[in-house]
Amino acid sequence: MANKSIRYGVNLRKRESAVIAQSKSKYKCDVCGKQTVKRESPGIWRCKYCNATFAGGAYTLKTASGETVSRILGRNE
Ligand SMILES: [Zn+2]
Repeated sequence: MANKSIRYGVNLRKRESAVIAQSKSKYKCDVCGKQTVKRESPGIWRCKYCNATFAGGAYTLKTASGETVSRILGRNE
């Protein structure tokens, strides 16, 4: 169990720079299909086109496990 947490920490540090770059890129919106989803705050992503809000990872829209974001917090149309 101690080994597991240490390995997790190493992976986090290795991935940090790539992850920060990802946090600044745009992602495809599941609602309107446009590449206009940007990070609003850690874990919150908003589409600039249709204003859909998604719950995602802190630094990337998709979670590390690769599952798609299915929970839509709200829409402002
Ligand atoms: Zn959209």
